[in-house]
Amino acid sequence: MKTAVYPGSFDPVTLGHYDIIERTAKIMDRVVIGVLQNKSKTPLFSAQERVKMLEEVTKDLTNVEVRCFDGLLIDFARSCNAKVIVRGLRAVTDFEYELQMAQTNRVIAPEIDTLFLNTNLKYSYLSSSIVKEIAEFGGDIRGFLHPQIAQKVIEKFAQGKNLETK
Ligand code: ADP
Repeated sequence: MKTAVYPGSFDPVTLGHYDIIERTAKIMDRVVIGVLQNKSKTPLFSAQERVKMLEEVTKDLTNVEVRCFDGLLIDFARSCNAKVIVRGLRAVTDFEYELQMAQTNRVIAPEIDTLFLNTNLKYSYLSSSIVKEIAEFGGDIRGFLHPQIAQKVIEKFAQGKNLETK
């Protein structure tokens, strides 16, 4: 059984992320989405909320599961029995960091490979941070997220959250 992990912050999951998930699910037997519980960043959504949102949008993809993780990505991949880490590449700006991370992971864990999927052109400009910036100022984010996720982002900012204080 070929398993891949797809790690990220997913704060929140965008249509760009979903496109990568859907395509990976077609190539691999099993996909485990890893939601990073990064203590150095203050996310808009808690890790549990991010997991729930991913579960909701991937409910029809039967070979996809969602988990939280902390610590080293390769340890997470090993715990999922995955030999592949999937990353999305949007533009050259992603490349340098992604390549460095992939090379490092390969030195630490030679049995695990990183697979890069190029972004769908429709979503090449899209990031969770840009969606949050637009939402904070009341802009229309419906073209970037699943409708139920867009609703949750709008509600967060309506509760008085902002990107400075979160
Ligand atoms: P973001 O940069 O949006 O905060 P994450 O840290 O959640 O994203 O990213 C997880 C993975 O998804 C990374 O490999 C990232 O390059 C990829 N990704 C993010 N947005 C897109 C997109 N619009 N198209 C393709 N891949 C993407």
